[in-house]
Amino acid sequence: MSLLVQKYGGTSVGSIEKIRDVAERVIEYHKDGSKMVVVLSAMSGQTDALIKLAHEMIVVPDSRELDVLMSTGEQVSVALFAMAVKSMGYDASSLLGFQVSIQTDHIYGKARIQEIETGRILKELEQNRIVAVAGFQGMDEHGNITTLGRGGSDTTAVALAAALNADVCEIFTDVDGVYTADPNVCPKARKLDAISYEEMLELSSAGAKVLEIRSVEFAKKFNVPIHVRSTFTKERGTMVVAETKDMEKVLVSGVALNKNEARITIKKVPDQPGIAAQIFEPVFQAGIVVDMIVQNTSEEGLTDLTFTVLKPDFLSTMKLVREVAKKIGAEKVLGDENIAKVSIVGVGMRTHAGVAQKMFWALAKENINIMMISTSEIKVSCVIEEKYKELAVRVLHEAFGLENDQSGK
Ligand code: ADP
Ligand code: ASP
Ligand code: MG
Repeated sequence: MSLLVQKYGGTSVGSIEKIRDVAERVIEYHKDGSKMVVVLSAMSGQTDALIKLAHEMIVVPDSRELDVLMSTGEQVSVALFAMAVKSMGYDASSLLGFQVSIQTDHIYGKARIQEIETGRILKELEQNRIVAVAGFQGMDEHGNITTLGRGGSDTTAVALAAALNADVCEIFTDVDGVYTADPNVCPKARKLDAISYEEMLELSSAGAKVLEIRSVEFAKKFNVPIHVRSTFTKERGTMVVAETKDMEKVLVSGVALNKNEARITIKKVPDQPGIAAQIFEPVFQAGIVVDMIVQNTSEEGLTDLTFTVLKPDFLSTMKLVREVAKKIGAEKVLGDENIAKVSIVGVGMRTHAGVAQKMFWALAKENINIMMISTSEIKVSCVIEEKYKELAVRVLHEAFGLENDQSGK
């Protein structure tokens, strides 16, 4: 008997009607003989609404209590879903993260899953029940509720699929697969039949929120195939799998946009050993993730250091960096939230030269200034002014012929 892990995102469970539709769909699979483990997100907009509530209470909410609050969104979804299934004459059981239990580390707001116990779920399945697991949440070693970071229900689903040895993890969402660019930004984006873990990792890290990055890391590590597909149609979506030979023929597989980063520059930093370590120490201690870092060549023993962080971390990072800047005798700290990062991703880049150059020319032709550049083996990212973000995606999509699958030719 097959065991299926399916995850339904926020828009898929955005109303009572939609939750009923999901219940009907899951019951169909159940009737076909599959054991069903269903991971649900909060109803669309609910997590944002909960965060807003917390900020109405206090400017900087306590991180432990914020996780207790945010995790309630998923609790609502699994309860309503289980009610819907039962009302249709089938049995279901809703489980919260701690009931499963999904054990995580203690980093509130971005906890990592460490272990999943499968005993309770298997017992429920043996009773012929459909199991609904609340996504996005877990419990640390002291029994505190944790959340996994925005979009974290994807990670819950893939981690469960790995722990339960499921054949596939199906991610149901509001688009019918992974596209060459966000179809809501680039109307000419094309749906991919398959994409490698590696490319998906880069696309996710570059801002393609269709899959949360840690879910892809998990899938790659435990070799769980992911099927990204639409909640609203029956069609096949996109398989995220290990790399195939064919994929290397394609130069660029996709363009991604990240609107969620901000840039911080420290001007005239003394160029000495240990300075970068001193600057980033408090940032690291605060659990803030730094993405791109660029340091200019020094002039008269002074240099500028620029880096990016996620927008929600911008103000707290500015505060920390201003303190260090004073301590080390840097001139000043500048911040800019009006930036966006566009990236091109493709495993074919490994074997082809000139990809970055093509990207720079395509942006230059539209008079889009590049503020920062970073590259990996299969990705090139450029930070640009935020106002050009959508234009940049469309221009790069066109420049690399992604619309017609001409990207490698
Ligand atoms: P869910 O609530 O189901 O988790 P998300 O909003 O997190 O859904 O992710 C789906 C969204 O991801 C789509 O609506 C789309 O706008 C966006 N997206 C960004 N990049 C891509 C891409 N390359 N392919 C498909 N969707 C993408
Ligand atoms: N509800 C959470 C969020 O909005 C988790 C998820 O949807 O995956 O980020
Ligand atoms: Mg999501």
